[in-house]
Formats: sequence, C-alpha cells, structure tokens
Amino acid sequence: MPAPNIETIVGLAKRRGFVFPSSDIYGGLGSAWDYGPLGVELCNNVKQAWWRWMIYERDDMEGLDSSIIQNRLVWKYSGHEETFSDPLVDCKKCNSRWRYDKLEPSEDAKAVGYGATESTVQSGLFKCPSCGSTDLTEPRPFNLMFRTTIGATAEEDDPSALAYLRPETAQGIFINFQNVLTTMRRKIPFGIAQIGKSFRNEVTPGNFIFRTREFEQMEMEYFVRPGDDERVHQEWIDYCMNWYLGLGLSADNLRLYEQPPEELAHYAKRTVDIHYRFFPEREDADRQWDELMGIANRTDFDLRAHSKKPENEEGKRLNPDSTEDLSYFDEATRERFYPYVIEPAAGVNRSVLAFLMDAYTEKTTDRDEKRVVLKLHPDLAPIKAAILPLARNKPELVGLAKAIKRSLQPILRAVYDDTGSIGKLYARQDEIGTPFCVTVDHKSLEDEAVTVRDRDTWEQKRVAVADLAEHLQSRLKVPRLSSQDTGQTSVLDLDK
Ligand code: ATP
Repeated sequence: MPAPNIETIVGLAKRRGFVFPSSDIYGGLGSAWDYGPLGVELCNNVKQAWWRWMIYERDDMEGLDSSIIQNRLVWKYSGHEETFSDPLVDCKKCNSRWRYDKLEPSEDAKAVGYGATESTVQSGLFKCPSCGSTDLTEPRPFNLMFRTTIGATAEEDDPSALAYLRPETAQGIFINFQNVLTTMRRKIPFGIAQIGKSFRNEVTPGNFIFRTREFEQMEMEYFVRPGDDERVHQEWIDYCMNWYLGLGLSADNLRLYEQPPEELAHYAKRTVDIHYRFFPEREDADRQWDELMGIANRTDFDLRAHSKKPENEEGKRLNPDSTEDLSYFDEATRERFYPYVIEPAAGVNRSVLAFLMDAYTEKTTDRDEKRVVLKLHPDLAPIKAAILPLARNKPELVGLAKAIKRSLQPILRAVYDDTGSIGKLYARQDEIGTPFCVTVDHKSLEDEAVTVRDRDTWEQKRVAVADLAEHLQSRLKVPRLSSQDTGQTSVLDLDK
C-alpha cells in the first residue's frame, strides 16, 4: 500500500528529518526545500544507484560534471533563449498566475472532453484554481531560465554580462562531446552521463519536492548513428523502466506515456515519459499520473546547433559563434555525420518522492497500534542498521552496542540509539526505512550474540557478533565487486 497522497509524505519527511521547508525561520520561500540528515543520505543513495547502474555496470559510458553557469551563447544556440518557456495566464480577478497547460478542467470542459488550449481558456471553460473566476488573460510565453549577471562591474541590464543558471544539464554534455570523445578515445555508440543541479523559474511550482525552482537532474546523452536511433530509443525506454522496478517501485504505479506531437519539445523526434502515480487521491484516473523521467530522441539537433559548420540554403553559417564542429568521423565507413542522441532524463528529487511514496506502508501491531514502515530498497535506505542496547543504564550493554556500531561503520551506514524504549526505537527505525535493527541484550554479554530484527517481517534472528557484518551484508544484497579487483572487502567500502 503506497502513501495515499503526497501530504502524508510531507508530514513524515518533516517529522523524521528527511526534508524541511527552506528558510522557515524567515517565513519560508515558496517551494524551496532543505534535505535533512536522512534526506541527504536518501538523495545520495539514489544518485549512487543511478551512477553505478548507468556508468559502472556498462562498457559504453563516461561521466561528466559541467558548469552550472555557461556562456550565454550555449542557451542561444540550444534554442532555450527563444523557446524554453511555459504558457502563462493571469487571473483578471485575483491577479494570480498559472500555467495554462496545467489548469484543471471545469465540469463543463470535462463533459466535452476538453484539455486546456488557448481557445478553451478564452471561452471560459477553465477556472482560476485560486478564486474560481473564468476571466483569464490570453496565454503568453514566460521564459523559465533564471537570469544573473557576471562580473563585479556588471550593470543589472548589461546584455554582455547576462548569463543564466542552467535549466538542464544536457547542454553541458553536448558542448563537451568532442572533449570526451577524443580524450577517452570513444567510438559511437557511447553515452555521457551527468548528475547536477538545474534551475527553472517555474510558474506554478508545488506539490512538495515534485516541482521546485531548484532541483537536481540525472541525465545521459547516448550518441548513435542516425538510423539506429529508433531502436536504441526503445531499448533505453525498457532499460530505464527496469531501473525503477529494480529499486522497488511497484509496476502498478508506473506507466509509459507517449508524448503526442503537440507536446514534443522543439528538438525531439519522439519522447516517451515514465509516469508515476504521484496523485492517487485524484478522482480522475488520468490526472493521478505525472512525469518521473523523460526519454527523448533529440536527433542531431543539439550537436548541429552548436557546430560552426552547418549552413542555410544561402550558404550562411547557422552558428557563426562556435569555433568547433561537433560532427563525428566513422573510420570504418569513412563517413562524417552528426550523431543522433537518445536522452533519458530523470529528476533526483522526483525520484526520491516516488521512492518514499511507494515505500510507505502502514502496519498494525499485536496491540492494535498503527505503525508506519518505510519499505525502501536496502540500496536506498538512509541507514542500513541501527544498533540498540536493551537498557541504556547498563554500561556493559552500552559499551558493547557502541563497539558493534563502530565495527560496522567502515562497511555500512550504522547508527547507535538509546533514546527510548526498545519498542519506540524499533518504531522510529521502521518509519525511516532502516532494514535491520540489531539489539544488544543481557544475554549478549554471555553468548556474544545479538538479535537482528527485519524491518519488513519483524522477524528476529540470533546472530553471533563475529558473523554480524557478513550476515548484514549478505541480507542487504549489496552488489559486490570482486575483492581481487578492488582490494576491498565490499563495494560498501567505496560507498560511504
Ligand atoms: P514537466 O513537464 O513536469 O515540467 P519536463 O518535461 O519539463 O517536466 P524535463 O525537461 O524532461 O522535464 O526534465 C527531466 C526530469 O527532470 C523530469 O522528468 C523531472 O523528473 C525533473 N524535473 C523537471 N523539472 C523539474 C522541477 N521543476 N522540479 C523537480 N524536478 C523537475
């Protein structure tokens, strides 16, 4: 049973230290969130899982970390300056502003099956979500890029100092295509992956961490020969879906959504989104879903757009500012061409929200008490094991529990806690998704064994302290690299 709505997760996230409203002591800042001690671990685990799956487990991938602030020309030639906008409408009655393609249809609009388009908004079929008025302005484009100026002497309106915070990580990959290709001696097909912050001045951010103005993306650009693009695109759609399934998202809450031609971005030949059921409480089944990840066939649009060579019909260079040609020479066929690009693009924060919602479970104890259990995949769980002494006023138990925690911490994320009764401590760890609680009791001092409690089944098992690390590691099913290759006992050594 996943969370019944996002609100349930907002409460849990704040109560347990995953996510806090940002700038709260100054009244907050709309839709900005800070990740607390458990939230930062969860985000890092999602990113590590993605990086490992995307780069380490494949032979055809390189990583990159490009600048957030780039030359403004990057955004001119990528098309973002001109087209990276959302359609904005104002409510003439209460002056609030909305993205018209996200307006909720009125009953009248639903009856005739209308979506929000320019004409349906104008004909009064859509209402202001704030005051209910149908008196809305005509939609107009609102560019989503955050502007800034570079340099200490720059005037606010000096166009030569204008720069943007990147609205996607992808362009940093395109402008480095030749650098990576040549330094890493790659041949297509191959991909370049990047994780990093992006910024969009969203018209209507909201729904907790689902849509914010500052967020983190995990993007990969996969370069292929034109003609192979459609097949490879389909392969990536399946591969990405499997990544989410493999990390525990339920198939019932995932679906593929084929973007219709009118929704496609200016560069895309075909885009398929992976949708998650973020809004299960909504009556209209179709409105329960929204995008978790987009997988686009970007064609050769970006590499061409950033290249100095391509010319229009009159022989004029389309990009007179670029100093590079980003085409590719195929040694085998002696051909030069611009590779096509398949792009899986996911949000870290939206993925975190989906993982939290899907892991949320309620369980009833023998005493008829309701407990929340967060059944996160062990790879994602912020803490892998909590070491709990049965009595905190017994120095021998405390000493042994702390020693066990210290022995585990080089290989997995473990915590020690003695701030409540054992029942309370279990409940707290269940609620934050810790797969195992390790209890040190009076008998432990004699038999040198501890009780390992499973988060999902609440089953308990006696395990010798000497075998504990091995035991936990095998049950956490952490993927291991060969110890000869790494010189490490476990991949977790690299993890933390
Ligand atoms: P949407 O239609 O929801 O605005 P998009 O199609 O513009 O999203 P992409 O440009 O495809 O999004 O970005 C890739 C991924 O980045 C999205 O699938 C989403 O997970 C994440 N993302 C995009 N915008 C935001 C945002 N404002 N806040 C949080 N995550 C975002």
